[in-house]
Amino acid sequence: MNTDRPRFVVLTRGALMELVDAQLKQAKVLAPVTGGEEGTRFEFITDAREIYLDYATTIMPPTKKVFLPQEGVTFLTWKKENGKTVFASPADTEPLVVFGVHPYDIRAFQIWEETMLRGKYEDPVTKARLATLTIVGLDITEPPRDSFAASVDAHVVTDGYDLMLTILATDRILAEARTEKGAALLEGITYRDAAQSDIVERDRLREERATKYPHTLPTSSESVSEFLMQHANHPLFTETGDLCVACGKCTVICPTCTCFSPVEHSTLDGTEGARTRVAASCQVPVFTLVAGGMINRKSAGDRFAHRLFDKFVYHESEGSHGCMTTCVGCGRCVAICPAHIADPVKTIEQLQQGAHHE
Ligand code: SF4
Ligand code: SF4
Repeated sequence: MNTDRPRFVVLTRGALMELVDAQLKQAKVLAPVTGGEEGTRFEFITDAREIYLDYATTIMPPTKKVFLPQEGVTFLTWKKENGKTVFASPADTEPLVVFGVHPYDIRAFQIWEETMLRGKYEDPVTKARLATLTIVGLDITEPPRDSFAASVDAHVVTDGYDLMLTILATDRILAEARTEKGAALLEGITYRDAAQSDIVERDRLREERATKYPHTLPTSSESVSEFLMQHANHPLFTETGDLCVACGKCTVICPTCTCFSPVEHSTLDGTEGARTRVAASCQVPVFTLVAGGMINRKSAGDRFAHRLFDKFVYHESEGSHGCMTTCVGCGRCVAICPAHIADPVKTIEQLQQGAHHE
């Protein structure tokens, strides 16, 4: 729950590590680490010293690690007992601290919540997981190379976290406790109350960094939505979509792509089993395969356009966090696409340049 007035304190890196170590005694902690072939990634840590605070971005976003990990999430189990089938819905109830989340990924958590808990069809798996979550945000120091978060207003967030960290200098970190949970994280930690000048410095750094995004949408996300609606049948979608190799990577690594497929497992004797959700991609033809063998979105161009429309058009009127778009501009799809076509900025620019050729 948000507190009426956020509390600002200043910590050293050592104190921050103390905070994490204190959490590790009572919760699982998912945090950015680096090294090895995979590079920087979010992982469950056992020691605060594993954390890599100065990261640019990660391939896999924290939302996917939390809600739809690669190994899948088991959401239903069944067992035959005394001639009856007994069903259970396992839920992860252990507290989870997600530490060091960049603003665009905090926005992704908000979008995930809106998508999965909106209206009367609440997803119980997401709801249960959200109830255990504490989010510790971290302002970026350098905009990630392919990110255009500032174009979709996801480079700075003012809610959606419990504690927000801003590195003001190497060993001077401003922490803003936004919720009661966030304030509780500071208990027992050495800090000083922040001065007004610390907060002013944070705001100045945020403004300065907002201008450093090398990658920007050519227009506001609201205008992008309108523009896409006007050019929904542009031939560029087919031309570019034909280059897609349907690997599905752009959706698997997208922090706001929530689609999944249920997979059923059972023992050979059929006495028990489970149902697991695994990530699905709208960019592969079988995504829309239905009984009888019909594929509803067979054309690569339609699939290519669908991803862009899903990010900039379909959810436009639904955001209660001011999310006019479900693209947070993280740039992960830009970096991962083997065909170099998944960049929303590039597609929108090309559409604008070629719109008159329709
Ligand atoms: S569409 Fe691309 S840039 Fe936008 S949120 Fe998804 S991965 Fe990030
Ligand atoms: S990453 Fe690129 S090639 Fe792979 S499905 Fe997405 S658009 Fe197609």
